[in-house]
Amino acid sequence: MEKNADQTITIDLETTFGNLPESVLVTNAERKIVFANRATKELLRLSRTEICASRTQRFFADPKQFEELGRLYRQPETGGSKEAHCIDLRLGDGTIAKVETVTAPLYDTQNNLSGLLVIIRDTREKRALEEQLTAVAVTLEEALDAISEGFALYDSDDRLVICNDNYREIYTSSAPAIFPGNRFEDILRFGLGRKQYSTGDLSDEDWLADRIRRHRNCDGSVIEQRLENGRWLRISETKTTSGGIAGIRADITELKQAQAKAERAYADLALIADSLTVSINELLPDGTCLFTNETGCKWFNASAEELIGKPLRERLCAQDREIVSRHAARAIEERRAVSAELNLQFPDGVHRDCKIDWNPRLTATGEVDRLVVMATDITDRKRTETTLAEVYSLTSSRELGHKEKIDEFLRIGCRHYDLPFGILSHVADNSYAIVNAASPNGELVPGTEFQLADTYCQLTLQATEPLATTKASESNFAAHPCYRNFGLETYIGCPVFVDGLIYGTINFSSPQARKRDFSVSDRQILRRFADWMGHEIARQRDHQALLDAKINLERIASVDDLTQTMNRRAFMEQAQKELMRYRRYNQPFTCVMMDIDHFKLINDRHGHATGDDVLKKFAATIMASLRPVDVFGRIGGEEFCLLLHGTSAGDATTVCDRLRLSIIANCSTENCGPVTCSMGLATVCESDVEFSSLMQKADTALYEAKSSGRNRCVVYTESQSAAVAE
Ligand code: GH3
Ligand code: MG
Ligand code: MG
Repeated sequence: MEKNADQTITIDLETTFGNLPESVLVTNAERKIVFANRATKELLRLSRTEICASRTQRFFADPKQFEELGRLYRQPETGGSKEAHCIDLRLGDGTIAKVETVTAPLYDTQNNLSGLLVIIRDTREKRALEEQLTAVAVTLEEALDAISEGFALYDSDDRLVICNDNYREIYTSSAPAIFPGNRFEDILRFGLGRKQYSTGDLSDEDWLADRIRRHRNCDGSVIEQRLENGRWLRISETKTTSGGIAGIRADITELKQAQAKAERAYADLALIADSLTVSINELLPDGTCLFTNETGCKWFNASAEELIGKPLRERLCAQDREIVSRHAARAIEERRAVSAELNLQFPDGVHRDCKIDWNPRLTATGEVDRLVVMATDITDRKRTETTLAEVYSLTSSRELGHKEKIDEFLRIGCRHYDLPFGILSHVADNSYAIVNAASPNGELVPGTEFQLADTYCQLTLQATEPLATTKASESNFAAHPCYRNFGLETYIGCPVFVDGLIYGTINFSSPQARKRDFSVSDRQILRRFADWMGHEIARQRDHQALLDAKINLERIASVDDLTQTMNRRAFMEQAQKELMRYRRYNQPFTCVMMDIDHFKLINDRHGHATGDDVLKKFAATIMASLRPVDVFGRIGGEEFCLLLHGTSAGDATTVCDRLRLSIIANCSTENCGPVTCSMGLATVCESDVEFSSLMQKADTALYEAKSSGRNRCVVYTESQSAAVAE
């Protein structure tokens, strides 16, 4: 019967599922397969009879998955018939296929579980497709990483979809925020917080707004972006068909640098061309002028009409005329260009170093019919060269002291500018003080002070460029108090900074107007002067600070803190010197050991502070009555030692008795009663090779003074030492 029932179901299954393209199989409650359709047969690569003779376990490559699916038989209602299960299916030929299964429980008429209907989906194709897609994505990422630019793709929501490693490397500081899904704006904000971008004059918010506007625009226009680390990027962004934004960032730092360099070079070139003053003249072989340019007119101090038709050289002084004619004659005679560097005085009153070229022009027959003379003013260049060489040797010199160096700077400056006065000033508040000065007859005295407002330096400190005039009376300098008070016609000045702070100015001046204008290099040189002086002053300050520290250290190391007398170490050093003097020059001295009487009692009765006070008064009293040649120091506790220079024992006793009395008078206070002290004296003698032996004798005498009643002076005798020895 049962078999029959199976049969009935099987037939129904065959009509329902037999030819379905999906694989369907049915099991009984014991997980034995009772039906498999054709598609299943294809999938499993077995005949349907073979399949139907098997239990499902046979087809599980992984026993764990078999275990897991047993759940569906035990609890079909909660077994999750709706969810798909992934299974590694072992096929008839032993190969394994990944499939997905969906199951539905089957019930008999008594509502008992009679088996499961299983639909199997071959996922191999889907997986292959997925793998292919992943491979494509990986290839895409690899490809992106291979390009040398930074690439990033944002979606229509402006969230990062993908970017390459270069993109992360370019924006290193922002890297933690660069992950798929993060918004463009949030990545920018993160970067701004980490100082990723150089925002120039813009506030962070303005910079951000501008950047986002251009990003959204992405009209293909190129954005140049500067990062805080000094690098430059060129960004081009375009809209993708899906509404996202793809951006490429190329590092153009090198390009930018080259560009800046080219711009600087161009500026330098223009500067050189401007400062190149060339006088161009066309002459007949006899020297008659046919043409001269503006510079020529200026130098020869006449109009072109006045100059043309006459020999230019006639306007030079006899000596210069002679030299110039000689060169011209040689060029004509040898029919080739001749050049020379000459220093000439021109009719406009200016001495110029000139490089002059005489170029003969030849006719068809080889005769010289014209001479083109080009004269270049190289005064500036020559002077600058000399000045730089002098300054170089000055700055590298180790022989000169600070003041001499600054004075020498000023002297070189006066020479360079051909002006009589040079000043290094120090400016504080509204006062201007001359620190160093160069003047022909010492008219300018260091230390002299002026009101800052009365000096041109007031203007200098406000200007960004070196300030200069060559004729104050014809400029707005004329209204300045400095012109009214001192009549300075020529002035060039520049601020001096020391460690980044204004120190004062360096300036050169003259009551005479200057014939030549200050050139660009004159101004540059002044700036260099100011830099050098600033360094020199800073160096001097450091040096002084070191010296002060050294002196302070030495003081600390040799002075007793409490009494401000020499400490033991310093005293012993001095004492040893005193002994050497005695041995060399036979200058006698007496050593006095002093010890305050019953000092412990003072401490005990009135406190340590009072004791300290007594010690201070004691030391002060002794020091007040000493001569500069005497040596006095605190040996320890309440013991002091005094060396009376050039004093015999007898004289020393008189001095010490007087000291003893002045101690009673000065150190005794109401607070602590009378303060007395005992003294032991020993005069140096031949046998004292080391100071310690003399000190020992004075100590012996002190012992004697103590034991014979205190408050007295005792002079050392040999018998005492015998007594002590005993
Ligand atoms: P004598 O007359 O025999 O010299 O008696 P004394 O009490 O002066 O001698 P003693 O050596 O017994 O005591 C010296 C005391 O000086 C002991 C120590 O506490 C005190 N003392 C040492 N250094 C200092 C100091 O710097 N300040 C103060 N207040 N007391 C000091
Ligand atoms: Mg003592
Ligand atoms: Mg004492």
